[in-house]
Amino acid sequence: MGRFQAIRKKKESRKIAKERMHILYSLAEECALAGNQERARRYVLLLRRIGMRYNVVVPSKLKVSMCRKCGMFLLHGKTARIGLTQGRLRVECLSCGNTRRFPYKQKRGI
Ligand SMILES: [Zn+2]
Repeated sequence: MGRFQAIRKKKESRKIAKERMHILYSLAEECALAGNQERARRYVLLLRRIGMRYNVVVPSKLKVSMCRKCGMFLLHGKTARIGLTQGRLRVECLSCGNTRRFPYKQKRGI
């Protein structure tokens, strides 16, 4: 295989990996909404594993909804508590108590 082809193949598999991540994300969201938190967590872990294997960064839009510590899918009012403090978005995982802060942007839409 030529060098150019190898690079192209790498790009292609990353694209597929990202697509898979989005699919797993919506599956996790569905399960979390249905109250099946354990299953949602499993999807989150799978999503992360794909990211590691293909060296793809989890999109920040997706990251907001996942607990870094326990892998819980964070749903406002269900598995997470979300608040605003000093212009920052505070997301607290109700499963493990881990709290994360994000700079607040109106566009994010949580
Ligand atoms: Zn957690």
